[in-house]
Amino acid sequence: MLIVMNHNATQADVDAITRIVAEMGFRAEPIPGSERTAIGVLGNHGYVDDTHILELPGVQRVLHVSKPYKLVSRDFHPEDTIVDVAGVKVGKGCRPVVVGGPCAIESEEQIIKTALFVKNTGADMLRGGAFKPRTGPHTFQGLREEGLKLLALAGKESGLPIVTEVMSPDNVGLVAEYADLLQVGARNMQNFDLLREVGRIRKPVLLKRGMSATVEEFLAAAEYILAEGNDQVILCERGIRTFETATRNTLDLSIVPLIKELSHLPIMVDPSHATGKRSLVAPMAKAALVSGADGVLVEVHPEPEKALSDGPQSLTFPGFEKMMNEISKLTVFLQSC
Ligand code: PEP
Ligand code: MN
Repeated sequence: MLIVMNHNATQADVDAITRIVAEMGFRAEPIPGSERTAIGVLGNHGYVDDTHILELPGVQRVLHVSKPYKLVSRDFHPEDTIVDVAGVKVGKGCRPVVVGGPCAIESEEQIIKTALFVKNTGADMLRGGAFKPRTGPHTFQGLREEGLKLLALAGKESGLPIVTEVMSPDNVGLVAEYADLLQVGARNMQNFDLLREVGRIRKPVLLKRGMSATVEEFLAAAEYILAEGNDQVILCERGIRTFETATRNTLDLSIVPLIKELSHLPIMVDPSHATGKRSLVAPMAKAALVSGADGVLVEVHPEPEKALSDGPQSLTFPGFEKMMNEISKLTVFLQSC
């Protein structure tokens, strides 16, 4: 439930409602806006009788939210959230960001070379997996903590904030020691213990859409993170499973403007995992930015043919540079925060 206050409601009106909601056994969360304050009511299961609330001073109307998410919704929080990743701002009104890097950190040489290259071609952040969620157990699983150390070194050498995946609740503390932005991967979008754990840290989180997740499930997953107190969440569309097998997944670009209607959180797009095919990555990165995405996440490798994971979708260095040149010409790319 959301209690929308009149624009001339006083702080005393807001405080009184907060107290009354608490007496009803729920949690009240005032959300100040530029025009008016709204008060989110949390902790109710099902419909709450609003007759008493509607009569209180300062109340304009009451909205009953039947969706499984509230904190992430625009109804609760009309202003766009800007996520700050070690000084790089992501969200509405900011220049869209480009996150580049290999699927997995493989060696010091590989990650440093890539970091310096993506930095010099204009990327804003460096990505690289140290804990890899692979389909089968006999493939490369990542360098784990050693990989985190190499990624941190590459981040330092290039001056780029670093993004890396955390797969288990037990490793959140460890990954947070190194990463500037913690990624929760598609396969873990509904790992609720992991979502709660990243909700308790004070570092931003990149939440990828599960490969079979509906928009409602995606937002409900983000709600777990916000419900623990961390509102620094960037959503990421990375393609969903459909009947189509010509591409690795089907990139659902309509989710970008849809999420902007439903939520205040920024959304990025990963055209690499969405398509699985190098030649499709740059066109879909550009399409994502034109559709309003707040950034793109792109895999790039110095020698994709030797990559230990996701070589076929990784851009070469010249391919990445070409994509960067092309997207720098898009007008959306000229905004600043
Ligand atoms: C990744 O970004 O390396 C990754 C594994 O992505 P996803 O979770 O989207 O498959
Ligand atoms: Mn990958």
